[in-house]
Amino acid sequence: MNIVLMGLPGAGKGTQADKIVEKYDIPHISTGDMFRAAISNSTELGLEAKSYMDKGALVPDEVTIGIVRERLSQPDCDQGFLLDGFPRTIEQAEELDNILSALGKSVEHVINIEVAKDELVKRLTGRRICKVCGSSYHLIFNPPKEEGKCDKDGGELYQRADDNPETVNNRLEVNIKQSQPLLDFYKAKNVLTDIDGQKDINVVFADVDALLKSSRN
Ligand SMILES: [Zn+2]
Repeated sequence: MNIVLMGLPGAGKGTQADKIVEKYDIPHISTGDMFRAAISNSTELGLEAKSYMDKGALVPDEVTIGIVRERLSQPDCDQGFLLDGFPRTIEQAEELDNILSALGKSVEHVINIEVAKDELVKRLTGRRICKVCGSSYHLIFNPPKEEGKCDKDGGELYQRADDNPETVNNRLEVNIKQSQPLLDFYKAKNVLTDIDGQKDINVVFADVDALLKSSRN
C-alpha cells in the first residue's frame, strides 16, 4: 500500500491522512516530519538540510530526495507508506520512482482529495481567532454562539491576515499551478484517483477506503 496523498490547502488532506494511516497501519511520511527527524538524528543529510534552513535558503532537491530515500528505506515502510507533501514537482516524482524501483516498489495509489476552489476559499477564509484567549472558530464549521464574540470570554474575534480572501486566492492559485503537472504525470501512469472532498469527512474516508480495499485483492 504505497500511497501519495494530494490535495489543495483546505481540502482536508490532514484529516484523511490520519484516518488512512490508522486504518492501514502504515507510516505517515510528511516532508516536514522527515526533515525534523533527519535533523534531530543528526544524519549527514539532516545536517546539510539544516545548514540551508539556518540561512533561510531552500533545501536543494538532491538533499530532500536523499532524505526521502533514507526514510523510505526504513523497515516500517515494508508494508507501505503514505507520502504527504512530496513529491511537489515532476523531477521529484521521477526521483521518487527511481528510489522506489531500487527498493523493488512503486507508487500504487495517488489519491487526490478534490474540492472546488470556491469551497476552499470559503473554508480557508472562515477562520476567526479570539483576541483575548486565541481560541479558534470557523464561521461555517464551528461558529461562535454570538457573532463576532468568543464563547469563553466574549473577546472580539478577528481574521488573521493570512486568511483574507486575496491571500487565500493567491495561495490556492500557486498550489493549483504547482500540482496540475503532477496530477497529469500520475494520471498518465494510471495510478491517480480523484476523491470528492466536498462530502462529509466520514463519507470521504469511506470512498478512500473502498478504493484501497478494492486494490488489495
Ligand atoms: Zn476568547
